[in-house]
Parts: sequence; structure tokens; C-alpha cells
Amino acid sequence: MPFPRKKIVAGNWKMNKTSTEAKTLVEDIVTQLGKFDKADIVLCPPFTAIAIAHEVLGNHSAIALGAQNMHEKASGAYTGEISAAMLRDLFVRYVILGHSERRQFFHETDALVNAKAKAAFAHSLRPIVCVGETLDQREAGQTSMIVESQVRGSCAGFAEAQWDEAVIAYEPVWAIGTGKTASPDQAQEVHALIRKVVKDMAGEKVAAKLRIQYGGSVKADNAAQLLTMPDIDGALVGGASLEAASFTAIATAPFAE
Ligand code: PEP
Repeated sequence: MPFPRKKIVAGNWKMNKTSTEAKTLVEDIVTQLGKFDKADIVLCPPFTAIAIAHEVLGNHSAIALGAQNMHEKASGAYTGEISAAMLRDLFVRYVILGHSERRQFFHETDALVNAKAKAAFAHSLRPIVCVGETLDQREAGQTSMIVESQVRGSCAGFAEAQWDEAVIAYEPVWAIGTGKTASPDQAQEVHALIRKVVKDMAGEKVAAKLRIQYGGSVKADNAAQLLTMPDIDGALVGGASLEAASFTAIATAPFAE
């Protein structure tokens, strides 16, 4: 089935997998994906498992490495933090920014996410910028307003060439790790809104090319329906990315006959 944009499926392992466990998981994913190259695949292990993941991937061109966060400054006295240059040095290509867990537990704001995204671009890293409403916000009818303001704030001032490198992930907070998934129509509605906002910010051409992932309890059995919606260009997968079989099934789901 032809899609207007190449799908991109990323696994966010969060704070899971030692480097020994990561080695096995990456080996299994490589084996199970085989020569599959219809979607871009991104693995986002914890920082401590990036090196071993790279070692296993070798020159596997269809699978890229991502990180789950980074600091916005280039270097300095920021104990416990990791810079964009450090990630590039480990052959990382993507970085998840503004995940709802970072926004909730580490108080990350749109302005901070924006600064991180710009630091990522400056080091040839592709940001996966996460946005999404909480359950309270959805029930109060604020979904569009919240998502629009997160996109405008987190992606403010992106140049056209930077938009080409960026990915947005729509992750309704109420669907993350809860087993509750947005229905394909609910997700499509917000994805279409995000594309409209980006069109307003950066023009039709940028908006038409931008890849927008859905995230929130994506599983093997709901991936095909979600990932074949017109404005859903892939998935950001948490829990189901921790097992090779479920992650592989999600990545290949939109292409099954
Ligand atoms: C995530 O953390 O980005 C995520 C979508 O998690 P889960 O798939 O477990 O809901």
C-alpha cells in the first residue's frame, strides 16, 4: 500500500534494559526484521545501552539509533546530563524530546523542548518532538488548544531545512502505558490538526512532508488500523518495544496484505 510519507516506527525503551539485555533485544529485532526496509526503524535505548546497540547494529542501514533525552547546552557543569555531541559520537541519529514523562516528572516546558530541538539540529540530530493532552484536558475540551500551543512552542523558529529533519509524536498522555489507545479516528483528528498548525507555521510544503507519529499503547493488534490513517506516519512505541516480536509486528503491520 503506497503511503505519502515513509513510515517511521521508534521504540522508546524508557528506563529498561541493561546493556546485556539490550544486546539480546537488538539482536532479536535485527533477526526478526530481516531485510524489511519499508519503514524507518529507530531504537531508543537508555544512554547506557546505546554503545552496545550500535555494536550489534553495525551497518544495518534500515535501523537507526535514538536517545530519549539530551541537554540543551553544548557542555559544562550540568552533572548527570548528556549533550548532543556526546550522542552523535555514539552514532545516534534521533532524539526524543519533550516526552510527557519528561514534561511531568522533570518539568520540561515547550521553551526548553524548543532549545533542546535547536541544539539537536546544530549537531545533526533529528528531534522527535512529543506533544499531547492529559485526560483532564481532553475531558475539558482543550485537546486542540493544548496540542496547538505545544507544537507552536516546541517547534518555534524551525527553519525549513530543520523541519525536514524533525518528527512530531502525538502522544495523548492518557494513552501512554495505560492500555487505552486513542481510536484511529481520534488520533487522525489530532494528527490532521497538527499538520494544519505546521502548515500555518511553515507552509504547505513543509507540512506535507512532516512525519507525525502516534504514541500511546500501540500494540501489534491495533497498529495496522492506526498506522494506515492518512495523517499517521508511524508510531512511538513504549511497552511493546521491549519485546522483539511485538515491536517487529507493529513496524510491519501497515504493510501486511
Ligand atoms: C511512550 O512512552 O512513548 C509510549 C507511547 O508508551 P506506551 O506505548 O507504553 O504507551
